Amino acid sequence: MTKKGLQLEPISSWMKTDRPIIISGPCSAETEEQMIATAKQIVATGRVHALRAGIWKPRTRPGQYEGAGEEGLKWLISAKNETGLPVATEVANAAHVEACLKAGVDILWVGARTTVNPFSVQEVADALKGVDIPVMVKNPINPDVELWLGALERLNKAGITKMAAIHRGFSSFEKGPFRNAPMWDLAIELKTRVPELDMICDPSHIAGNRDLISFVSQKALDLDMAGLMIESHINPDAAWSDAKQQVTPAALSKIIDELVVRTQTTDNKVFKDTLSILREQIDQLDDEIMQKLSARMKISEKIGQYKKENNVTILQVNRWEEIIKTRIALCRAMGLNDEFTSDLLKLIHHESIQVQTKVMNKVAERV
Ligand code: PEP
Ligand code: MN
Repeated sequence: MTKKGLQLEPISSWMKTDRPIIISGPCSAETEEQMIATAKQIVATGRVHALRAGIWKPRTRPGQYEGAGEEGLKWLISAKNETGLPVATEVANAAHVEACLKAGVDILWVGARTTVNPFSVQEVADALKGVDIPVMVKNPINPDVELWLGALERLNKAGITKMAAIHRGFSSFEKGPFRNAPMWDLAIELKTRVPELDMICDPSHIAGNRDLISFVSQKALDLDMAGLMIESHINPDAAWSDAKQQVTPAALSKIIDELVVRTQTTDNKVFKDTLSILREQIDQLDDEIMQKLSARMKISEKIGQYKKENNVTILQVNRWEEIIKTRIALCRAMGLNDEFTSDLLKLIHHESIQVQTKVMNKVAERV
């Protein structure tokens, strides 16, 4: 049981393999030939543990390929029969779930556009009551950990225990180098709240182009994610959806080969001793930082009192600008990143204003 009360089975037990778990296959199932050819090439790499393909495709704008529908499920099962790979697809409603269960799909996932909608997630969860099948939940398209966790909870309440979260990035109006901003902090937040929850990264949908897949994959493994879901296609440029981000099975194999897989920990005694010495130093420094922060806030309180007695405003923009300027220059000289210094100062300033506001609004205590 976790703090949030999720009952989970670790991914390595239900995928029956060691981490990192690799799931790959085309964005969409297009034809039976494409599915079987992709599956054969993928299995030949010897690197992939499950085959993915979208059967019902949620497209942002109409007029694009929306998937093969139920017919495509047959192709997925043929690919499974040809290669022995378990197969995974996306479900968004009860009808999808029923069709997948009837066809013999092994793993389901809830897509980013479905996780945002508790009605849809509940419908999927209700359709899965009493069924023992692994379900993976992609993060919602908007950066909201609560919605992501809520979807996992709905499925878990329906009795699904073989679960993993899929981090596929978040859409935003501002366009950066990624199709979907990874916002790693949100994935870390979910992992911190539910440590037993295994997380899979989907570098294809984060990157949006094949050149960034290696970079995102390595970062995900370095953050202790349990595996990767990477889109692959026999002829990526001719794919009917997400062409730019798909790779050939051969390119996939190269990406996986080049990844550095690190362990969560090691039994090496020298490593453990060195780490514990460094951690002691960190503990000591954290202690000093907190003491200094506390002392700083006590001075803020005195300043608040002094400003109150002299009827002076709390916010002094000039002073704040001077603080930012001098501290950033100082911290830069000490090797700290400007953005970090600025974020940290904003947090301290915000708290300092709160402390002064409290002093200023304090009604004189009656004796
Ligand atoms: C997909 O996996 O092809 C897909 C539609 O992904 P997402 O839900 O992350 O957009
Ligand atoms: Mn896709």
